[in-house]
Parts: sequence; C-alpha cells; structure tokens
Amino acid sequence: MPLPSLEWVNQDSAYLRQLRAGFAWLRFTPQLELEFRGYHAVANLYRMRGAVMVSCVMWLLFSLLDYVSMPAEFRQQSLALRLLIMPLLLGTWWASFRPQWLERMQLLAGICALASGLAVAGVIWIARAHTFALPYEGIILMTVFFYFLIGLRFRTAVFCGWLTFCAYLAVELNTGLAANVLIYNAFFLGAANLIGSFGCYFLEHSARETFIAQGLLEDIAERDFLTGLLNRRAFSEQANRSWRQAVRAQQPVAVLMLDVDFFKAYNDHYGHAAGDLALQAVARALGAHAQRPLDVLARYGGEEFVGLWLDVSQEAILALAEAIRADVQALALSHQHSAVADVVTLSIGIAYLLAPQPGALEEAQRLADGALYQAKEQGRNCVELRALTL
Ligand code: GH3
Ligand code: MG
Ligand code: MG
Repeated sequence: MPLPSLEWVNQDSAYLRQLRAGFAWLRFTPQLELEFRGYHAVANLYRMRGAVMVSCVMWLLFSLLDYVSMPAEFRQQSLALRLLIMPLLLGTWWASFRPQWLERMQLLAGICALASGLAVAGVIWIARAHTFALPYEGIILMTVFFYFLIGLRFRTAVFCGWLTFCAYLAVELNTGLAANVLIYNAFFLGAANLIGSFGCYFLEHSARETFIAQGLLEDIAERDFLTGLLNRRAFSEQANRSWRQAVRAQQPVAVLMLDVDFFKAYNDHYGHAAGDLALQAVARALGAHAQRPLDVLARYGGEEFVGLWLDVSQEAILALAEAIRADVQALALSHQHSAVADVVTLSIGIAYLLAPQPGALEEAQRLADGALYQAKEQGRNCVELRALTL
C-alpha cells in the first residue's frame, strides 16, 4: 500500500513517528504494537481458519497413505500420532469463530504448527526405527505451511520452523541415517527454513507498512493537522456515539465550547507562525483534561475548540473548565494586545444537561455557544454555564 503524502499528517501522529523511527526489527512502540497485533489477527483470521482446515484434510490424506503403505507392525503408532493432532486443529478451527479467542489465535496457530511439525518428525522417527524408508519431505511441506500459509507472524514462524528442523535432525541422528543423506536432507530443510524466514520477514514488514499507511490515512481524515486533536467531522461522529451512550445510561453530559481571546490581535502582532505554536500549546493543555475513553475533544475550527464530557456533576464540570482556563493562562504565552490579560487566555461556554435527550447534541452545542458568547460579553478569560436540568 503506497504511503499517503506525509505533509498533511499531524506531526505528532503515532504512526508518523513510528514510520520515521523505522521498524526493521518488526517491533512497534508498545501501544502501536498492541494495535498492530489486533489488526493482524483480524486480517489473518480467514486465512488461519482455512489453513487449519487444509491441514486437517492433509493429515487425513497422509493417514490414509500410511494406512495403505506402512507395514502393520508400526502403522498403529504412526496413525495414533497423526490423529492426536486432529483435536488441536479442530479446537483451533472452533476458536477461530469465537471473538473472545481472537487475540489468542496467533498462539493457538503457533501451537498447531509446532505440534504438527513435531508430529511429522515423530512419524519419521517411528518409520526409521523400523527401517522403513519414509521420505523426509513431509517436514519441508510443514515448513512451507509455517511460513506462508497459516498466517503466523515472523517470530512465531521462525520459532516453529527452526525448532522442527532441530527435532528432525535429532531424529535422524538418533536413528542413524547415513551421513551423506543426512547432510543433503539437512541442507534442503535448512534452505527451506532460510527461504521461509526471509519470505515471512518481508511479508510481515509489508503488513506493518500497510498498517501504518492505514493509520496515517485515518489521521489525515480524522485529525486536525496542526493540533492533532480530532477535526470537526470526527467530533460529530464520536460525540454522537458518546451522546447515545449517555442517553442509554441516563448520565449527565456537558458540552464545552472554548475560544481563545483576542487571537486575531495575537496573530497580527506576533505573526501566523507564532499563532500556530500558541494554538498547539493550548490544544495540549486542553488534551490533558480529556483523558477518559468517552471524553471527546476537537478543534472546531480556527481558534475554537469543542469538547464533550460524560457522567459529570455540574460542580465537577465547572471545576474542570476552571482548571482548563487556569492552565491556559499558566502557559504564560505573552499577549501584549489582549485587553483582558498580558498572556493568552481562553473563554469557555458550558451546556450542562442532566438528562440528555436522543439527537439533541446540536442543540447542546448551540446552548454552549450561547454560554460562550455570554463569557465573551462578561469580559473574557472566564467560564459561563447554562444548565438544562429537566
Ligand atoms: P475573541 O476574543 O472575540 O474571540 O476575538 P478573536 O480575535 O479571538 O476572534 P476572531 O474570530 O476575530 O479571530 C480569530 C482569529 O484566529 C482569526 C485568525 O487570524 C486566527 N486563526 C484562526 N485559525 C488559525 C490558525 O490555524 N492559525 C493561526 N495562526 N491563526 C488562526
Ligand atoms: Mg477568539
Ligand atoms: Mg472564534
């Protein structure tokens, strides 16, 4: 997936930072790594489910082959080993339909792969112990399965592939395969693992690239380029979701409109670039007060911000708005042309709804706008609240 133009991505974007830091070792920062694993699990779910089914069919076919071609004296042992794997495969297939197992699918698939690899080595062991010339190529088939079919991430696949390789070597050394044959077999299997490891590395690297590209596109679509806060469209989407939650749970909601005071004068005096830096600093100060999962904060446009807080008392939201106002003042961004203070300040309008009604978000925003207008009228750098307590 080609990367979008990075010019329009907020420079604080976690995806952009990761892209710049690189991921040659196939590791993101912990938060992004967690997100990637979830993404990878979803993206590979059908593939894993299909691979497990293919694997079941292959095991049955090989069991049939053993049944017709192996001497009866040790056929049972080989079949028992092969059939032992089936419950594991079927269990993993079943788990692939259960959302609660999604994040453990990588582990389950890894266990399936490793158990299958070791079982093939075991079957070879049984055959060798009875001097039956079973071809070793089954192990190479398993290797292809680990690296390219079942959707394992690089590290899991490498672990399964090379451990199976070691198990195979141990079997052949134990059962005394002729040295010249063993060297060839080990060479071929080692080469298959090497090819698989490289292939799997590049597959995961490009999966990570696609994940980053999608994250960047999401950031461009949803985040304000300058401050990294949500943009107005994304606010509307997320705030409506939070609003519905508040209506369902009958929780009080507060909508805040926040506007920087005399910002045109700030721009005119200090220049647009300094204005941009001031907006970024203000946005960071606001962001520190909207940390709960359902809190929504956005840049509404220009020097105006909008926020929604769920399940707060009237006293708590007044205290929060007052803390925001004080924090912005405490940034101490010098503003010589403000009539209200000698630093950048903020006016805040609050709409407080004790019992939010369905679809009334826009009405609440209008109420908050009215309160903001009132705060401006009262001299700015202050908080005004309008409450609907019905
Ligand atoms: P008030 O106290 O009544 O809100 O006055 P104000 O000057 O802040 O309000 P006004 O709406 O007249 O001016 C807003 C200014 O915000 C206009 C524009 O120069 C500035 N502005 C809007 N968006 C940006 C931006 O992205 N960067 C910069 N640097 N300035 C911006
Ligand atoms: Mg303003
Ligand atoms: Mg304004």
